[in-house]
Amino acid sequence: MSSIAENFTLVRQQIHSAAADAQRSEASVQLLAVSKTRHADELRQAWQTGQRAFGENYLQESLDKIEVLKDLDIEWHFIGPIQSNKTRPIAENFDWVHSVDRFKIAQRLSDQRSPAQPPLNICLQINISREDSKAGCLPEEAEELLNQTLQLPNIRVRGLMAIPKSADTEAEQRKPLTEMNQLLSNLNKSLTDTQQLDTLSMGMSGDMAIAIQEGATIVRVGTALFGPRNYKQ
Ligand SMILES: *Cc1c(COP(=O)(O)O)cnc(C)c1O
Repeated sequence: MSSIAENFTLVRQQIHSAAADAQRSEASVQLLAVSKTRHADELRQAWQTGQRAFGENYLQESLDKIEVLKDLDIEWHFIGPIQSNKTRPIAENFDWVHSVDRFKIAQRLSDQRSPAQPPLNICLQINISREDSKAGCLPEEAEELLNQTLQLPNIRVRGLMAIPKSADTEAEQRKPLTEMNQLLSNLNKSLTDTQQLDTLSMGMSGDMAIAIQEGATIVRVGTALFGPRNYKQ
């Protein structure tokens, strides 16, 4: 077995036991393989283990891979920062966007998504640790952004995403994840049945198990699957 295949087996086992510990079904947690900086051949190896959902951060790099891997049935997730003049290729080529943090971006994605395609699934990115330098809207801004975004025709708001600040203790790691779960429940109280948000995109290689205990439905895992990244952008 290749080391990528071994890593996928290991991470899937970790997800399985974290879900069991949290008394959740394994099917309620989706593994998103974060493949930024990885070569298309590595994604192909991952696909051969059964992986279908891949997350990318850098637009040009991801478009190149989407082209090279177009023979595979991959669900593509955009998880990186979005410049407003770069929304069109994202709207046209991806199935999910996790990093929507302002209305202008949501509006452009909706305008540029073809009505002939299924609606683009989006998550609102929340700056849950309130870091000055970080993307995401503040938790208290989420409701307004959500209400505006729900009006748009060609996107479907699925839930919330966060990249919490790294922390030294388990208790500190857990706090922002708990807050995300509470924010999602609060927002859902004012939504109709068909609008309910079903997605919490949180948890990475280092905090995957805690995130699953705190209700993550998509964990975004890179290093634990592919090893240390090839380069930094
Ligand atoms: C790189 C990245 C990840 C994966 O992080 P790892 O620590 O390598 O698992 C998850 N989410 C986002 C938004 C990322 O940019």
